[in-house]
Amino acid sequence: AKESGKASWVRFEPRMRQDMVHHARLASELHNAIIRGELRLLYQPVFDLVTGRVAGAEALVRWQHPTRGFVSPADFIPVAERSGLIVPLGAWVLREACAQLSRWRAEFGPDAIESVNVNVAVRQLRETGFVDEVAAVLSDHGLTSRNVILEVTESSVVDGWQVRDTLEALHEMGVHLALDDFGTGQSSLSLLRQFPVDVLKLDKSFVDGIASGADRGRLAVAAAVAQLAEHLQLKAVAEGIENEEQLDRLREMGYRYGQGYFMAKPLPAAECGALMSGAGRS
Ligand code: C2E
Ligand code: CA
Ligand code: CA
Ligand code: CA
Repeated sequence: AKESGKASWVRFEPRMRQDMVHHARLASELHNAIIRGELRLLYQPVFDLVTGRVAGAEALVRWQHPTRGFVSPADFIPVAERSGLIVPLGAWVLREACAQLSRWRAEFGPDAIESVNVNVAVRQLRETGFVDEVAAVLSDHGLTSRNVILEVTESSVVDGWQVRDTLEALHEMGVHLALDDFGTGQSSLSLLRQFPVDVLKLDKSFVDGIASGADRGRLAVAAAVAQLAEHLQLKAVAEGIENEEQLDRLREMGYRYGQGYFMAKPLPAAECGALMSGAGRS
């Protein structure tokens, strides 16, 4: 719990011991899961809200545990980060997502989908050799740097000089970086001046505030992020769109791209591919 580097005093409660045991067990099971191939990827389409077409797809990892059943990434990604397993896991995700993108492009043509979005944890960015790994995966699958968008969070971006160098090297390579969960962090604005960011992903919590119409604060943030993106010439993506009203409002605000259950949930590769090959939607 010293991730932030800030001192924080907490009482040691029995529940925490249980959590640690739970985490240790989960970490060892996750290790086996990687070896046994229990992980798979789903893909949530990123829609161009103007043309209605699929612009890209975000790879989201799933773990089908033999006895526990489905384990949510919200539960095992943090465990993977703490144990370091995120490094081999993340490497697998990157490779698999790029392999899938090149299969789609072979099947439906290169115009059907431009890029795949891959979530990257700060632990991966700290590894020396990450930039080379990305370059190798792209070339192995006949892709260019335009074909992958790496999603990082604000907190990982401010991790330190090593991560900063890595992000700059990726940017120089032409790989686009998306700031995930944008608006929830502390230092959003200064970050945008310091780091080579290409895409802002408005956090779902701000999109949630739209339908009710009641939450003017979150609505204002959503609108401000769209304007910020426009001024800085960044792509604006809204995530977690669940209904038509949100979609309409976000489009009006200037969001060119969007993701959400209203358009499509995370899907198996074949179903995601079917949306690309289909006629233009809107
Ligand atoms: P995220 O990167 O912010 O991904 C968006 C999450 O919102 C996904 O949850 C997605 O399924 C969900 N979502 C998308 N549209 C909607 C919607 O309209 N309504 C609602 N309620 N949810 C929506 P998921 O797949 O459970 O992933 C949770 C988190 O786990 C991700 O959040 C990401 O931080 C992490 N994660 C998933 N896959 C990976 C991975 O391969 N590597 C890393 N490092 N993290 C991953
Ligand atoms: Ca993401
Ligand atoms: Ca997000
Ligand atoms: Ca998130």
